[in-house]
Amino acid sequence: MDIAPSPATKTVPLVDADLCTGCAACADECDPACLVMDGGLAVLIEPEACTSCEDCVPVCEVEGAIKMGAAS
Ligand code: SF4
Ligand code: SF4
Repeated sequence: MDIAPSPATKTVPLVDADLCTGCAACADECDPACLVMDGGLAVLIEPEACTSCEDCVPVCEVEGAIKMGAAS
């Protein structure tokens, strides 16, 4: 999977694979559908489509499973 480089100032959701339970709550909140479920893990498949709205973060009930961070 190719991931296009993003500006250093852009923030995107970062998912901790060890903590994510695969509940899909975050993906359901993503209007651009750039954050999707893949193999029971939330994955940002289209970082360039992410608007950094942060809607996907507060809906997660697992502390630390998803947080905003610099796109890399
Ligand atoms: S920050 Fe917004 S656009 Fe980006 S993945 Fe989360 S819900 Fe989707
Ligand atoms: S809401 Fe949290 S636990 Fe659920 S899929 Fe997203 S990151 Fe994983």
